Amino acid sequence: LAARAAAGGLTRLGVMGGTFDPVHLGHLVCAEQAREALGLDAVVFVPTGRPAFKQDRSVTDGAVRLAMVRAAVAGNDAFCTSALEVERAGITYAADTLEELREALPATVEIVFITGADAALSLPRWRRSDDLSRLAAFGAATRPGFALGAEAVENLRRCGFDVRPFAVTGIDVSSSDIRRRIAAGRTVRYLVPEAVRAIIEEHQLYRKEADGGRLAQ
Ligand code: ATP
Ligand code: MG
Repeated sequence: LAARAAAGGLTRLGVMGGTFDPVHLGHLVCAEQAREALGLDAVVFVPTGRPAFKQDRSVTDGAVRLAMVRAAVAGNDAFCTSALEVERAGITYAADTLEELREALPATVEIVFITGADAALSLPRWRRSDDLSRLAAFGAATRPGFALGAEAVENLRRCGFDVRPFAVTGIDVSSSDIRRRIAAGRTVRYLVPEAVRAIIEEHQLYRKEADGGRLAQ
């Protein structure tokens, strides 16, 4: 990315953060439509290390989640992945990641952090929220059931956030749903890319018995 930025081929970069346990079609459609709607030259997927909001359940090893994301984005020239967070020790916060990206990229590159509308609403309560608002703009994906009202956008802007709502085709799939399906022995075919499904099978992920009794939330 830094090389591409230096070559002048990068003016607006999307950052798609997530636990991606596992990555699914909802994530991919969201990133692709963010790219188009927000005029992003590229989108970098950044799987979290130890997610701040999910300390209540065990999360699949970062290297495996990263491998699934890599497999999922292969073939889209505008997509890439970063191991920045999975390689960082401790709990993950978006502000730390955005700061690292900000420092690695020329000041001319605009960074747009992509979130769901639901997550965008809580931005003022994220860690280092004052820093967050100056580090990046925020693309807020709205989909059926996850709208972002004009008033909410106004509130966020008053808090200093450059919020950019965009609509995403509603794909009602979540990682939790996929984990639950697998634990119940049900199919997840076409909900995740085939290459991701292969990694899930290879590592026998999310099967209750094979996963040390891990809670498939
Ligand atoms: P979990 O069910 O474990 O919470 P998840 O499916 O919500 O997982 P995350 O890794 O938590 O996935 O989400 C990463 C980002 O992708 C978040 O910004 C979230 O709002 C967005 N996202 C998740 N699912 C969808 C979807 N179906 N459509 C659009 N965006 C989504
Ligand atoms: Mg979630």
